[in-house]
Order: sequence, then C-alpha cells, then structure tokens
Amino acid sequence: MNNLVLSLAPKFTKLQTLILRQDKPQLEDNAVETISNFCRDLQILDLSKSFKLTDRSLYAIALGCRNLTKLNISGCSAFSDNALASLASLCTNLKVLNLCGCVKAASDTALQAIGHFCNQLQSLNIGWCENVSDVGVMSLAYGCPDLRTLDLCGCVLITDDSVIALANRCPHLRSLGLYYCQNITDRAMYSLAQSKVNSRMWGSVKGGNDEDGLRTLNISQCTALTPSAVQAVCDSSPALHTCSGRHSLIMSGCLSLTSVHCACAGQAHRAINTIPHTAH
Ligand SMILES: [Zn+2]
Repeated sequence: MNNLVLSLAPKFTKLQTLILRQDKPQLEDNAVETISNFCRDLQILDLSKSFKLTDRSLYAIALGCRNLTKLNISGCSAFSDNALASLASLCTNLKVLNLCGCVKAASDTALQAIGHFCNQLQSLNIGWCENVSDVGVMSLAYGCPDLRTLDLCGCVLITDDSVIALANRCPHLRSLGLYYCQNITDRAMYSLAQSKVNSRMWGSVKGGNDEDGLRTLNISQCTALTPSAVQAVCDSSPALHTCSGRHSLIMSGCLSLTSVHCACAGQAHRAINTIPHTAH
C-alpha cells in the first residue's frame, strides 16, 4: 500500500478526498509526505490506525494540506502534541477532527491551539485521551462555538467545569460522549438542562422543537449521577430517548438511573387511555 500511494499520489494533484484505512498498518511517513507535496487541494484525509506514522507526517500535512476540513488520525498514538498544535495553527479550516486514542497528541496544549485557531470546528473525538483536563476542554468550548459533536469518552480527568463551559458556550452541541468520566456530577447535568432552557428563550421564534438540545448523550459509567438531574436533561432535550429502538440517552452501568425515562413512556400511557374516548 505504501508503494502504491508513493506512485499514485503525484498523478492525483486535484484529489479532494483520500481514505487510507488499513487492516494492518502499512503506511509510512514518506507516503504521507508525497501526498502532502502533490495533493494540495485535499479536504478529507483518513489516516486512522496508521501506527507507523510519526510527527514527520503531521508536519507535512500541516505544510501541504491547508484546505483540510476533515482529518481522521484516530489510533495514531505516536504523534506528539507539538506536531498536532502546529497542524491546528495551519489547517484552520478543520471542521471534523478525530483524535480518538491519540493519547500523546491530544494534550491540553494541543487543544488550546485547536481552540485558538480552528474556530470552525464542528466535530471532535478525543476519546481515551486520558491526559486531557478541563483546561483543554474549556479552551475548545470558548474557541469553537460551532461545536456539534464532542466525544470525551474515557477523558477521566475532566470535571463538571468542562461540561458547564460547553453548555454555556456551544449552543449547537447535539452529541456529547462522557462515558467513564466519573468526576461528572449532577451540576454538569443541570447545566446541560439549563442551556436548553436558554436556547428556547433566546432561540428561534418558533420556540423549542426536536431540533433543539442534545440528540445523543452517553453517560455510561458516570456513577455519581442521580435520576432527577439526568431526568432534567432528558426533559429539556426532546430528541433524547431511553426507549428501545431510539436509544440516544445511553447510561449503561448506571444502576441508580433506571427510573429515568423519555417522553415516549408517558405518551404510550396516554394513548392507551385516550382510545376509548376517540371511539365515541
Ligand atoms: Zn423515547
């Protein structure tokens, strides 16, 4: 695969999308350097699980592919935070960035650079980047107001302060992953519920609808949460569901939260009660 990329990349100078997913990591830095030299219009690049790549690749992308809007380097665990910060400072059009498992690269320093330079960011996955703390997430919340999807699963250091900053600063947030963020408490849930109330008050003339609020929330293993706080989030976001088939409020491993239910449970109950009346 590496040789194929080396020979083909110079011929595809107008290439905009390049997906290089691999079963076994084969891609090496020289291939990414060739891509960066010749494919300067590239907008979408997927290098996930390219374990052999080093910082040389990230610096090459930063210099060559300034128009990138989507970059997936999930699982590329060798990248450093300095290289990622450089990339963020040059690829400022990034909208979608997947850093899942980039434990070294996704430091608070790198996230501060992303928050500073990549203000159009809409989707970020920093799952299992266990060095990330509130400092990094708050930089994102303040710098990336268009953020819609954020996966913080396994970011074990983050606290309510991260979630409160996101709730206050990112009105378009629709999907939030907090799996295994065990420092998260009810305060964070109430801030999410409250932010929804605010968007109803200050939002469109039509008022609240299914488009508002969270569509996906994963709080599995967030064992400090209580039912009333989680119910408040569920009530404020009509698109969050606990019912089977539309499982968008995910809370496996939270045994204390079994009493939390979406509106469907109540509607089903009412529907059964109203059938005899409509028959008259
Ligand atoms: Zn439901």
